[in-house]
Amino acid sequence: MLRNDQLAEWDRDNFFHPSTHLAQFARGDLQNRVIAGGEGLYIEDRDGNRTLDAFAGLYCVNIGYGRQEVADAIAAQAKELAYYHSYVGHGTEASITLAKMILDRAPANMSKVYFGLSGSDANETNIKLVWYYNNVLDRPKKKKIISRWRGYHGSGLMTGSLTGLELFHNKFDLPLSQVVHTDAPYYFRRENLDQSEAEFVQQCVDSLEELIAREGADTIAAFIGEPVLGTGGIVPPPAGYWKAIQAVLKKHDILLIADEVVTGFGRLGSMFGSDHYDIEPDIITIAKGLTSAYAPLSGSIVSEKVWKVLEEGTDKLGPIGHGWTYSAHPIGAAAGVANLKLIDEMNLVSNAREMGSYFNEGLKSALSDIAIVGDVRGEGILSAIEFVKDRDDRIFFDAADKVGPQIATALLERSKVIGRAMPQGDILGFAPPLCMTQAEADIIIEAARDAISHVAEKVL
Ligand code: PMP
Repeated sequence: MLRNDQLAEWDRDNFFHPSTHLAQFARGDLQNRVIAGGEGLYIEDRDGNRTLDAFAGLYCVNIGYGRQEVADAIAAQAKELAYYHSYVGHGTEASITLAKMILDRAPANMSKVYFGLSGSDANETNIKLVWYYNNVLDRPKKKKIISRWRGYHGSGLMTGSLTGLELFHNKFDLPLSQVVHTDAPYYFRRENLDQSEAEFVQQCVDSLEELIAREGADTIAAFIGEPVLGTGGIVPPPAGYWKAIQAVLKKHDILLIADEVVTGFGRLGSMFGSDHYDIEPDIITIAKGLTSAYAPLSGSIVSEKVWKVLEEGTDKLGPIGHGWTYSAHPIGAAAGVANLKLIDEMNLVSNAREMGSYFNEGLKSALSDIAIVGDVRGEGILSAIEFVKDRDDRIFFDAADKVGPQIATALLERSKVIGRAMPQGDILGFAPPLCMTQAEADIIIEAARDAISHVAEKVL
């Protein structure tokens, strides 16, 4: 086995890490971590240090680490048939079964699933399908996509453009011109503190209407949104938001893409976020929870309405010119089948509902007396704590103080618990695996209280 110092050297010399401060890493200011194993909520590094991963990797290891059933299914598939493509009607038992299992669980109006590898490529597919759809319908001008500031939809060219976080645009010449952004449904960050939640929702609706009027409804193809804003801050929508937004979209014949990469397959305590909030999407993006990240796999679930037009298009134009070599990769599909079975057998959707409300209530009551805690919010097992310098007047810290990252570091160093400092604002996010127990929830709550109190003493 390679020595740790050897690996660290090779790591710095050869490995281009994503979403990393490259210069800090090269200088050695940023520690490299080599993860070697995992079980349940815990991961282990090569020195045998165990850490409670309260973010499930990147909110994706929903069944927890080390599930033998999924590993066995992957191994069996690799031995039997590691690969064949899914072009021109080809498939495998695993990919065909998985498509059926997804549709059995998806909202009622959904019709077919197209498989990809990542959340980003699934959203790229979605935008191409939406453009194709409008071309078949002979509406060549109807192409722009509305997404929300603070939305996260990937980091490809189009999906990085849809993502409404500056970090993902800066110096990459993004966003592309076909993308327009609208307001985030982020009540805690409303400008007018006297505004009620209902007034704030109305403001989101008005500003969407204004955007559509400015651009022209005949130029707008689709609106994309996560049922709960994720990477942008873990923000459940205010009551009535989705109903009101959908009414506007329907009025202007704008398709709705629900990006359920994080919320799909149980995280909110419902199988899909769309069911949770009564959203009727035309297309749903799935990834992470589809395989619990045991193998890369994503999907675009298209509704009957969209499917009919795509079908009609191929009668006019020939086969659809869109496919990846690895679409419906058998190993990913086998992981997906085993993962969805396990989600049912372990009752993870109802556990997410029950344990999620226990966790969210627990965080609220344990943290409410700490002066820098401005907001504690969550839905299912997806929670966030937002920090402020002054709670009464809701004054935020300077970004340069790095209060969120300091708290995430304290959490790890003092309690060996991983939470995520969200990229924009001082926000600590939690999204543990859906199999979290009450005892594990208590450990995370206690660790959060300890880390936040510790940092509060330094920064106030
Ligand atoms: N959509 C959402 C809502 C996401 O959270 C993510 C990833 N965090 C993506 C899309 C992109 O997925 P991937 O990183 O697999 O490309």
